[in-house]
Amino acid sequence: MNIESYIRTIPDFPQPGVTFRDFTPLLAHGPAFKALVDQLSARYAEKSIDVVVGIEARGFVLASALAYALGAGTVLIRKAGKLPHQTHAQEYELEYGSSVLEISCDALQAGQRVLVVDDVLATGGTVGAAIKLLQEHFSLALEELVFLIELDDLKGREKLSGLSVHSVFHY
Ligand code: 5GP
Repeated sequence: MNIESYIRTIPDFPQPGVTFRDFTPLLAHGPAFKALVDQLSARYAEKSIDVVVGIEARGFVLASALAYALGAGTVLIRKAGKLPHQTHAQEYELEYGSSVLEISCDALQAGQRVLVVDDVLATGGTVGAAIKLLQEHFSLALEELVFLIELDDLKGREKLSGLSVHSVFHY
């Protein structure tokens, strides 16, 4: 099964000059999606993972499938204003302007073993904000940060020093 062949490249999306890696064909193809989730769950099968944290929105799809395969829970890190309960918030810089991620204050318990999942590691700003939320407000064992795709040229990994990072595909 060549999982990577279900990731397509869209030039000039969402704006001119940006090369967008689109994995919706992978999600839509049952055997490819299953092979991806099986591959990731095999990696963490012996790690006693309690919770897989997903980052809105495409990270949710991967996080919930992996959590189900591991028998773990799923926790959502969302864009500001979406979570109904009391939240912790973290601002982060975008290319133009800034954005805010939030997590429910009671989403995690001390000592839980956690994976953090997003679809793409680009500059690392998004996952960096997610990690801040987790490390500043919860006392967790952060097992690994997991991405389907890492855009190597953008050097996001360098912002994540001291953390274990696993990307399935590199571009
Ligand atoms: P960063 O904060 O690391 O610069 O950007 C990562 C976020 O941007 C991810 O949450 C991801 O959803 C989105 N992103 C950036 N580039 C791409 C891309 O080429 N394809 C997809 N699917 N998402 C991207």
